[in-house]
Formats: sequence, structure tokens, C-alpha cells
Amino acid sequence: MSEPHGNRIVVVGGGVAGLEIATALGRRGRRRQAGEAASVVLVDRDSVHVWKPMLHTIAAGTSDVSQQQTAYAAQARDAGFVYQPGELCGLDRARRSVRIAALLASDGRVMIPERCLAYDILVLAVGSEANDFGIPGVRQHCHMIDSRAQADAFSREIRVRMMQCLGQDARLDIAIVGGGATGVELAAELVHLTHAAVAYGARELERRIGITLVERDARLLASFPQDISEATRARLESLGVNVRISTGVVAARADGLALEDGGFVPASLLVWAAGVKAPDFLAHLDGLETNRSHQLLVRPTLQTTRDPAVYAVGDCASLVPAGAGRPLPPTAQVAHQQARHLIRHLPGALRGTPVPPFRFRDFGSMVSLADYDAFASLGKFGFFEGGTLRGRLAQFSHVMLYRRHQSRLHGFWRGSLLWLVDCLNSRLRPSIRLD
Ligand SMILES: Cc1cc2nc3c(=O)[nH]c(=O)nc-3n(C[C@H](O)[C@H](O)[C@H](O)COP(=O)(O)OP(=O)(O)OC[C@H]3O[C@@H](n4cnc5c(N)ncnc54)[C@H](O)[C@@H]3O)c2cc1C
Repeated sequence: MSEPHGNRIVVVGGGVAGLEIATALGRRGRRRQAGEAASVVLVDRDSVHVWKPMLHTIAAGTSDVSQQQTAYAAQARDAGFVYQPGELCGLDRARRSVRIAALLASDGRVMIPERCLAYDILVLAVGSEANDFGIPGVRQHCHMIDSRAQADAFSREIRVRMMQCLGQDARLDIAIVGGGATGVELAAELVHLTHAAVAYGARELERRIGITLVERDARLLASFPQDISEATRARLESLGVNVRISTGVVAARADGLALEDGGFVPASLLVWAAGVKAPDFLAHLDGLETNRSHQLLVRPTLQTTRDPAVYAVGDCASLVPAGAGRPLPPTAQVAHQQARHLIRHLPGALRGTPVPPFRFRDFGSMVSLADYDAFASLGKFGFFEGGTLRGRLAQFSHVMLYRRHQSRLHGFWRGSLLWLVDCLNSRLRPSIRLD
């Protein structure tokens, strides 16, 4: 397969990586003379972008999704790329074309028929989804928090359950499976939701809601340093979360979780956050090479191993850095740095200049326990190499991850204005969804 020569870049998936790529290359194209510039098309199955690391706050109803979303059509107009709504459903590498499924209205009518888009360079940035590891009952009984729709569905469900809890004098036991950042952050956010509801007068909720977090590993946040794991566990327990470690889930049922140690966690609302995999369709995408988690294998240049015209970034890609024993983790930090690499080098690649290898710089990891606390382990780069942060400074660093993403999408001034509007809204509006 030859290297690409042309000017059409198609990006599939407008998440952390994909939307940053389409935005930056669209803007760059606008500044160039017509004819010199790349034409950039972004495909996404949703109509709006939400920064995925905030989905747990949308699920808990402690952030308002309508204030935190970016409409792709508006972003396309502002940044100078073309937005094609729809789901990628096929790839023809020989013809360099992707197939986008028909876009249907909620009543099944076809709004936009199936179409094919030609590309010179294709960037796949379709993210990941929860991995149920084939455990019985998970798909039927557990909520997952991988998309705006799922977070919104959970938010609606928990509000119904809280009303029932109040109106019918019943208990509400919630179990979260997975003690990684998603599970830990969601547990803290649900405590925050309960405390806010109590402050609005629903005092009985405090003793009627129980939250259990189950983790198979011997500690929470296995990818963080031990002291952060222990401090996080202690903080969650002090907030009333029942933390169960060193025990896996063998089955999910309508009334709770069966554990491998023979125990049972009774719960009527279950959330699965125990690991991720790339979408299944990637394993059958015109022969591109994938691993067991369906991630596309990429070379250090981020080109897929079997086709130099097809790049993959973010959670859907698997890259083992030279000398490292394992692939880069599925985090927003990796997705953003890979996006930045392609933003810099794809215009040259269109003219036939080879893309240099991507080098990941580990700036550390952060976890935020709602308004209560935050922890950060500082990575191998940066001023405080290898140190840890806790409290307000760590919380501020966590907030900055999102604010920097916003300013990359909207520019410094608009990004700052959006932050200001959020600060004003946090003073003027209820702190949780009450609709
Ligand atoms: C609750 C939660 C909290 C998290 N917290 C953190 C954190 O604190 N720090 C951190 O670094 N990471 C965190 N993560 C992980 C982080 O969100 C991901 O690593 C990051 O979003 C990956 O970016 P991406 O661009 O690869 O994919 P995504 O941001 O997931 O974007 C994928 C996009 O592809 C679209 N798409 C999918 N399939 C198709 C298709 N077939 N056709 C068209 N479009 C498609 C989706 O609609 C989506 O817009 C968290 C994740 C979750 C769920």
C-alpha cells in the first residue's frame, strides 16, 4: 500500500482526540490559500461533543449536560471543517473510502441516506466502551457511563429512584463495579448528589442511600502510587462509601452482584466501570490489525500496522512505546498528545513527508473526588517529577485538564468566557439537576 498524496483528511470520532484534530487542521486550512489547504471532514455518530472525563458528573446530575456540550455543526462552521453526522459502518482500503450508515430519526425515517466518503488520510478516533468481560448479567442489569446518552439515561434513572426512595420509604442501594478512576470518581459524585439533595430538604436520603464500590484488585486506582490508592480509599470510606477490594464479580443480577468469594452485594442500581475495550466493529474493519481488546495496532508514527494511509489515536489505538512492556493507557492525556502529534505532522504527510515517531510524555494522573478532595501523581515530566498532590491544588489541576481542552476547541478568549459562565451558573443555578 503506497503513502497518500492528496488533500482529503477524514477523521472518524469527534472526541478528545478527533475533535481537537479536526478543529486545528480546519483552522490551519482556513489560513492557507485555497488549493494548498487540506479539506477536513469529521464524522461522528452523535450531534454534540461532550468531554468524556466529565460523564460521571452528568450521570450524577451534578453537571448540566446542556451547558457542557459543543455542537459539531457549530464547531465545523467556526473552525472550517465539514461535519458528517453518522456512524462509520465500513471501510474499503483499496478505494480509500469509508461508509457511513444512514442517519435515522427517532421514528425510523431516513434523514440522511448511507454514503461513502473518499479520503487520502483516514484518522480513526472512535474511543472505547466498557468491557463486560463476558460476565453474565452485566449487559442486562448494569448501567454503563461511556457516552452522553448512557450518562443521561443513568441520571434520569437515579432521579426516579431517589423520588421512589423518598415517596415509598424505601432503600436505594447502588453498586459500582470497578475501582479505577471512573468508578472512584462516580462514587464520590453520587455522595455529592446525596449531600446536595439533603441540603434541598430530602433529609431521609442520607440514611436510605447506600453506595458500594467493588474492585477485584487488592487496591483502588491500581495505576496510581500506593499512597494515593490508600488515601482515596480512606476518603471514600469517610464519606460513607462501602469499599470492597480483592473480590471480583462473577454475575450481575437484578437484585445485586454475586462475588467470586461467595459473597453478595445487594443493590437495585448497578453501574459497570471495570475496564474498557475498543468498539467490536474495529476487529472486522477491512483487515486492519487489532488486539484482544479490539484496539487497532499502530506503529510509532500512529499509522496502523497494515495501512500507512489509516491512522488511529486515543482509546481505540494500541501503541507499545519502544522499551516499554505494555501499551499506553486509554486516557485523555494520551489521546490529546497523539492528536497534537497528528495536527503537527498530517499536513506534511499529505505531501509525502514521513511522520516522525510519537513520544508520550507522562505528566501524571489525577483523580477528583467531587468537591471533597483530589489526588494527582505527577509523572516523569514537569517540574515536580514523580511527586504527588492533594486537595485544592490537585482539584485545580483536574479542572484545568478540561479548561485547556475547551480553549483548544474554542480559542483562549471564548474558552475563558465559557469558564466564567460556568462559574456564574454555579452561583445562580441549583447545584444538582432538579427537573
Ligand atoms: C467517566 C469517565 C471519567 C474519565 N476520567 C478521566 C480522567 O480524569 N483523566 C483521563 O485522562 N481520562 C479519563 N477518562 C478516559 C478518557 O475519557 C478517554 O481516554 C478519552 O476520552 C479518549 O479519547 P478518544 O478521543 O480516544 O475517544 P472519545 O473521547 O471517547 O471519543 C470517541 C468519539 O467517537 C465517536 N464514535 C464512536 N464510534 C463511532 C462510529 N462508529 N462512528 C462515528 N463516531 C463514532 C463517539 O461518539 C465519540 O465522540 C475518563 C473516562 C470516563 C468514561
